Amino acid sequence: MFDAHRHLSGEKEVYDALYCTSHQDEWPRVANLPSPAIGALGALANRSLPSIDVLAQALQDNPLVQVGEIGLDKRFGDLENQQSFLLASLDLAYSLERSVTVHVVQSDGLFLSCLTKAGSRLPPILWHAFTGSVETARIAARKGCILSLAPGVEKTRLAKRIEELASLDFAIETDYETDMLPYSQVLEDQYALIGRVMHKDRETLIRNNNAKRAILTNNAPAR
Ligand SMILES: [Zn+2]
Repeated sequence: MFDAHRHLSGEKEVYDALYCTSHQDEWPRVANLPSPAIGALGALANRSLPSIDVLAQALQDNPLVQVGEIGLDKRFGDLENQQSFLLASLDLAYSLERSVTVHVVQSDGLFLSCLTKAGSRLPPILWHAFTGSVETARIAARKGCILSLAPGVEKTRLAKRIEELASLDFAIETDYETDMLPYSQVLEDQYALIGRVMHKDRETLIRNNNAKRAILTNNAPAR
């Protein structure tokens, strides 16, 4: 069962997941994973975004590494800077043929405008922990985004309309990190939840997520 988005944890690492990082300090830890991703998120109080050259070098050093998570988060401030880093990273990922995992909080409209700005130079994108409107989902999906459903989605306004995402590209993720229930349980529970709200069986969801793995890892085989 592929997990489209999780983080490093104290537990033994699994092989069928796209691990994302939020800070540059974590990059060395994901570099040896089977489907690792590197990236950096908006400027948190005590951290800053890496330069785009540092990201480019790290990607060139490891052809199996994808980009993520990066994005736009209104809570972190300086959206101007976050936006320039996002646009530069999308372009870089497009050039180097890597997928990008994005984190978008209270900035859906701005993110859609970034997709428009990128024009045809868009890499495959996973919109991690998507909770936006169905209308936003449709626009993003038309631009090639995969909408990823994380635990907690059933508590959002999207919950009642999740079934409408079934006709778009969607994926299942745990957004797992330390201090959660055991990983295997969180993964099973999330597949069960999405199965319930979308009225799809487990096998169909497994096949769907495997197809997304191929896109997100540029067809790197699962080990
Ligand atoms: Zn995450």
